[in-house]
Amino acid sequence: MKSDSVSSFCPCQQARTKFSPVFTFHEKKAFPNYEDAVIGKCNHCGVLKTVVFPKNFNSASSRPEMYGKNKEVLIRELYPIIKTIQKSDRRNVLDVGFSSGILINELQKQGIDTWGIELNKRAFKIAKNKKIANIFNGTLKDFIKKYPRKKFDAVIYNHVLEHIENLKHEIDLIKQIINENGLLIVGVPNRRNVVFYLRGIFWESLMPSEHIWHFTDHYLINFLEKNGFYIKDKFYANHNRSSLPLLKRIYFNILVFLNSLFGTGEAVTVIAQMR
Ligand SMILES: [Zn+2]
Repeated sequence: MKSDSVSSFCPCQQARTKFSPVFTFHEKKAFPNYEDAVIGKCNHCGVLKTVVFPKNFNSASSRPEMYGKNKEVLIRELYPIIKTIQKSDRRNVLDVGFSSGILINELQKQGIDTWGIELNKRAFKIAKNKKIANIFNGTLKDFIKKYPRKKFDAVIYNHVLEHIENLKHEIDLIKQIINENGLLIVGVPNRRNVVFYLRGIFWESLMPSEHIWHFTDHYLINFLEKNGFYIKDKFYANHNRSSLPLLKRIYFNILVFLNSLFGTGEAVTVIAQMR
């Protein structure tokens, strides 16, 4: 039996709307960290949102130590963003939700004036201990309050936007700190992909203990376009499943290959520019 719709905030109305449940995580064994979370679909715009949060929900969670262990892999994954910044000649960059600080570190090494914001206290402290310069603990709103005159040529939200409930409010803040013609680089999980279609509730990127939104690339692009940006470029990536047993790896490699045939992937990074 399908449960009743849930009332929750959606940017399409900038108000509470009705969400129809799509996934309910009641299988304790399969989803020990997601206790009874519900992901619903907005009856107006169709976006998927975690509308019932599990007990341990924390939208500011971050795993800086995990990134520390996989530094080489992560730098490779960040390479398209690093290359975009280099090519664009943007000299001053803000990384919102920097987590491990690896991206800041890489950009600073190349002489790019890079600043970072991180809400998660533990992640912030780890970056501080690594002596990464120009970092701030808090939200973008807190940062603007402290540095009301600071502006950036490029602003990066790499796997951060899906953690923020009021997207319209966030994008209005971004517009306050971005220079004319500034770049906004947004990376999010993209559910418009073959792995999600086949695996549904078991797709790793849903993570209802920390992700509020479950975007498609089309939704994100449309949202940015509606809010004063145009899209310059986009690129896709897929999960690294190199630690899985061989047969599973082959299975996922086939799905990832299908993703590339369909011109999609499990994550999308969109390069947008202010109009
Ligand atoms: Zn909606």
